[in-house]
Amino acid sequence: MTPLVIPIFIAHQGCPHRCIFCDQFTISGSAGSGGLSPSRLEVSRIIELWLDRPGRQRKSGVQVAFYGGSFTGLHRRRQEELLDAVQPYIREGRVDSVRISTRPDYIDPAVLSLLREYSVNIVELGIQSLDQEVLELSRRGHTAQQAEEAISLLRQKGFTVGAQVMCGLPGDTTAKAMQTAEKVAALTPDFVRIYPALVLRESGLESMFRRGTYRPLSLFRAVALCSRMKIVFDRHRIRVVRMGLQPSRELEEKVVAGPYHPAFGELVLSRHLFKQARKVLRRREPEQKLRLGIAAADESAFRGRNNGSMKKLAGLGLLNGVELVFDRKQQRGQLQTVTLSS
Ligand code: SF4
Repeated sequence: MTPLVIPIFIAHQGCPHRCIFCDQFTISGSAGSGGLSPSRLEVSRIIELWLDRPGRQRKSGVQVAFYGGSFTGLHRRRQEELLDAVQPYIREGRVDSVRISTRPDYIDPAVLSLLREYSVNIVELGIQSLDQEVLELSRRGHTAQQAEEAISLLRQKGFTVGAQVMCGLPGDTTAKAMQTAEKVAALTPDFVRIYPALVLRESGLESMFRRGTYRPLSLFRAVALCSRMKIVFDRHRIRVVRMGLQPSRELEEKVVAGPYHPAFGELVLSRHLFKQARKVLRRREPEQKLRLGIAAADESAFRGRNNGSMKKLAGLGLLNGVELVFDRKQQRGQLQTVTLSS
């Protein structure tokens, strides 16, 4: 079971940067979050509201997550104020973990001591790319080496580490995005999020896009690339917890161009399952009968939009003699094959 996550947005706070793709307010939204700059009282109020919601007993644990902005770039007093608001709930055992997100260059041993003191145990880093040229063209303001060192330091100090990576930024290529995935995976974060770059209104990318100096990935290419990146993380047994930005009305109003789809992750999963199935089924001996196990939660992704993947597999003659089993116990994103006879 997943924990109940109590989101508290501190959009763009603590961040003097303006990365070319960023419109932090749009990305994080602020509905029900206490606005852009929640006070200590507002943080408590948000936590109380979520803890009182029906159905929370069914979740495993409670996590307070400070989303958006660069938490450790905030003034130390402000960090303490926000974290202090969570402490009574931790002491009472009503909140189990605290998560923050930040930039790699805002991580050092002193910062991590403060986080530890306030029971922060999960840190998500915006890595985006480990290619120096892509970082520079995206005006990230930190180096690839800083990003690698930040992940290593967090791992050394025993934090749970999340890494956010992007593909399709200025200067990015398929090869560079795949190298980033390989390098990030080698640093063994606990989980990753993969986002294709979108052109958001009032972002630097919008000006480049309108001048014709930036072309975003098509939806097809973004799905294909994210699927390949996911395979790298799967191979290293690193959980991919999200692909594509969380859909929202605010985000949809801000997207000028780029591979936005409200069910982007589902499209990637669908392609991923289709390719796996095609590979397995092409390899079997002629006349061999097979049972293909698919997680029940993946059934619609496996079938594809309008049953498209099933039609393609059938069109290739690959479904003859195949029994499909949608299994509630099976792990998502993977297929299991059992030979029935030949
Ligand atoms: S560091 Fe993060 S919050 Fe700051 S501009 Fe870049 S993406 Fe936005």
